[in-house]
Amino acid sequence: MKAFAYVNPANEKEAAAALKVAAGSSALPLGGGQDLLARMKDYIATPDRLVNVKGLDRTIAVTPNGGLRIGSAVTIVDLAEHAETGRLYPALVKAAGEVGTPQIRHQGTVGGNINQRPRCWYFRNEEFVCFKKGGSRCFAVTGENQYHSIFGNDGPSHIVHPSSLAVPLVAYGAAFRLVGPAGEREVPAADYFTLPNMRNVRKENVLADDEILTHVTLPAPGSIKTGHYEVRYKQSHDWPLAMTTVVLTMNGNIVQSARVVLGAVAPVPWRSRPAEAALAGKPLNAETAAVAAEAAVSEAKPMSGNVYKVQIARTAVKRAIMQAAGLATV
Ligand SMILES: Cc1cc2nc3c(=O)[nH]c(=O)nc-3n(C[C@H](O)[C@H](O)[C@H](O)COP(=O)(O)OP(=O)(O)OC[C@H]3O[C@@H](n4cnc5c(N)ncnc54)[C@H](O)[C@@H]3O)c2cc1C
Ligand code: SF4
Repeated sequence: MKAFAYVNPANEKEAAAALKVAAGSSALPLGGGQDLLARMKDYIATPDRLVNVKGLDRTIAVTPNGGLRIGSAVTIVDLAEHAETGRLYPALVKAAGEVGTPQIRHQGTVGGNINQRPRCWYFRNEEFVCFKKGGSRCFAVTGENQYHSIFGNDGPSHIVHPSSLAVPLVAYGAAFRLVGPAGEREVPAADYFTLPNMRNVRKENVLADDEILTHVTLPAPGSIKTGHYEVRYKQSHDWPLAMTTVVLTMNGNIVQSARVVLGAVAPVPWRSRPAEAALAGKPLNAETAAVAAEAAVSEAKPMSGNVYKVQIARTAVKRAIMQAAGLATV
């Protein structure tokens, strides 16, 4: 690992100031370190300075309008076990409870989880200098792409976004508070994550190099039904192959409007407009769930090695809707 300086700021202002470094130098925020330290050991990340952000806000508070404000230093386990979060946003708690392993959930922070870098094995291997590391090709296109994207596949990168928390956060309409030397701003979770193009391919979101994510705010849930379903190769110690959160605004048993967000299938948490259109105005039952699941995969463009993920994504969407309807999923 390359030697680095360590800064332990007292507050978010100091943290943002410590991230501002001279040209040619680099600094990164350090949460639980599970992603970042692994990348540093493999020379995928070589920052000159680490800024500890674990000392920032670790609280979860109810907002005056009945939503929640979650500090970015809250651990995943504290989120998963928070009773009020579970009551208001059950899909978020479910996603948090299924992340990795108990050890990962105890160490990992909300801010670190949302900002973790892709798991593409070419990205994680020092030898492969792909687009994401300043190179001129994507090795997954003609290589091993069984865990890569099936939606949003126009390139130049074909990663799947690795954060499990990001999926329910987009579905619930969360916003992220970002703080930098110039002040603070709030960005809807849906606009935070970016599809790759040749200008932005080295990043996965709109966070500037000298900004930190300090809080996640969730709007009051209102009259909704939710479901969350993950399909995993292994039940623990791995990322999902596909996952879906659905948030349905109801009028009796009729779906008034829907948010259907898929994870582990696209470079961003993938909002499925066809599935949402298939649900709107329809009764919430098994038949509607099947039609919406079919609509969700209608826009899939799998790569050579991941056609199997289309069926998995279809199943995740259908079962998340069945769950929201209170129906058995198997
Ligand atoms: C075996 C295994 C299985 C896993 N399974 C899952 C899974 O199912 N689902 C899932 O979501 N994840 C999974 N993970 C990943 C794990 O959850 C993440 O690595 C962890 O949540 C990252 O949090 P951290 O606090 O340790 O982040 P760090 O490693 O500290 O940081 C991650 C990145 O975010 C940046 N960062 C940290 N905090 C902030 C902040 N406040 N503002 C801006 N940037 C910040 C850092 O600079 C770094 O680039 C798994 C990991 C392993 C090893
Ligand atoms: S999918 Fe993205 S990270 Fe993986 S090799 Fe291609 S450009 Fe690199």
